[in-house]
Amino acid sequence: PERGTEVLGVADLRKTFGGLVAVDDIGFTVRAGEIVGLIGPNGAGKSTTFNLVTGVMPASAGEVRFLGQPVQGWLSRRIARLGLARTFQHVKLVHGMSVIDNVVIGAHLDGHAGAIQGALRLDRAEEERLFARARAAIARVGLSEYEQTIATELALGQQRLVEIARALAADPVMILLDEPAAGLRHAEKTALADLLRDLRESGIAVLLVEHDMDFVMGLTDRLVVMNFGSELAQGRPAEIQRNPAVLEAYLGS
Ligand code: ADP
Ligand code: MG
Repeated sequence: PERGTEVLGVADLRKTFGGLVAVDDIGFTVRAGEIVGLIGPNGAGKSTTFNLVTGVMPASAGEVRFLGQPVQGWLSRRIARLGLARTFQHVKLVHGMSVIDNVVIGAHLDGHAGAIQGALRLDRAEEERLFARARAAIARVGLSEYEQTIATELALGQQRLVEIARALAADPVMILLDEPAAGLRHAEKTALADLLRDLRESGIAVLLVEHDMDFVMGLTDRLVVMNFGSELAQGRPAEIQRNPAVLEAYLGS
């Protein structure tokens, strides 16, 4: 899609767990070539919002549009095939497996075990194509020299980059990242921010959940702030930074 066109549109999105309203009528959009941050204190509903958008769990109500198409109620694999890729809050790399194999398997599987057989039955040409895409994605995140390294032996910041490579190998229109900077050292955060700017530059829509305020302030074009499931504010980082309700929610958490 052309830069500036809506990639993701969320309207009146709601999720209840028993009596708890985890996501309370949230609405926002993400456009091609834009980095949007979804922030808020722990328990605000950020990860749940991600799970609803990506079809990991069904919404109780509301609309999710991806590339103009309503996708609520779709299975995550089907949404992913339209070009929506994601990473998880906790790194999900396969132990004992190289970086390249993690990227190939991850890109092909979407994390669904049933497809392992499918991956093993690939014909030669298809396998070569998958590996070429994986190598390109690994190069894009700057890890080419570690292709054959066991992924879980890398530093945490590099493991996060492997996860992003796995998402990129699917050639997505949009990427969602859940707390990609958590636990990273300063230099690793800088490398991650550079990569995300790079993705934005190439026209990918980026939505990231992040707890680290400093990280999102310097990186995002727009912020959506949640608290107790509800939208607290939306706006440019500079506006959000001096929004009294946002400051209070963060100081009180
Ligand atoms: P955040 O990612 O902003 O920290 P979450 O989306 O993980 O917040 O959680 C929002 C609220 O929903 C929390 O109160 C959490 O305990 C609750 N919650 C999340 N997932 C579930 C679930 N599967 N079952 C019941 N409650 C859940
Ligand atoms: Mg979370």
